Amino acid sequence: DNFKEMRLKEELLRGIFAYGFEKPSAIQQRAIKPIMKGRDVIAQAQSGTGKTATFSISILQSLDLTMRETQVLCLSPTRELAVQIQKVILALGDFMNVQCHACIGGTNLGEDIRKLDYGQHVVSGTPGRVYDMIRRRALRTRSVKMLVLDEADEMLNKGFKEQIYDVYRFLPPSTQVVLISATLPHEILEITSKFMTDPIRILV
Ligand code: AMP
Repeated sequence: DNFKEMRLKEELLRGIFAYGFEKPSAIQQRAIKPIMKGRDVIAQAQSGTGKTATFSISILQSLDLTMRETQVLCLSPTRELAVQIQKVILALGDFMNVQCHACIGGTNLGEDIRKLDYGQHVVSGTPGRVYDMIRRRALRTRSVKMLVLDEADEMLNKGFKEQIYDVYRFLPPSTQVVLISATLPHEILEITSKFMTDPIRILV
């Protein structure tokens, strides 16, 4: 399968080619279609496999850009990774007019609130700040339809377990969950069994 055969939005396909991708990587070949179909997906993958573009492409395909409400939340273990994900989403979505905000600690709270208030289709952040924004009602979760947990094992290593659960409790019950993790220890499997329905497992 190549990108053209994935039935992506025309402007997304343009963004993918403009970014320089020619052919989907193994994880992209296997994970994008099920995510697009709405399935919960557990991908056991390391960085370097093309995991970021896997969920970024799936996110961009699933967005309804006619409403400027947060539809996807992406949680990751570090500020740097959250910003990197934001950049990939904005770059692949260059022809789509997508609003994607990085919600990370160490930045100005008022600025965060203002950006969220403007309306963000996608929020990529660290669990602590994202939960803070939800609690303040600055980040509205009623239209969220997908939660991405990137480098889930690293998030647990950093002690973000409680905040991940806190965020999850605010999401609509039918929220699709995509989890990427290099390893699948017990605590990850606990998350998958609590958050996910009949997930597909992909090992790359
Ligand atoms: P990641 O696994 O997300 O850390 O990505 C690793 C690197 O692979 C990044 O530099 C991506 O830009 C690159 N990459 C991801 N998907 C593709 C693709 N389909 N073709 C070429 N490079 C890619």
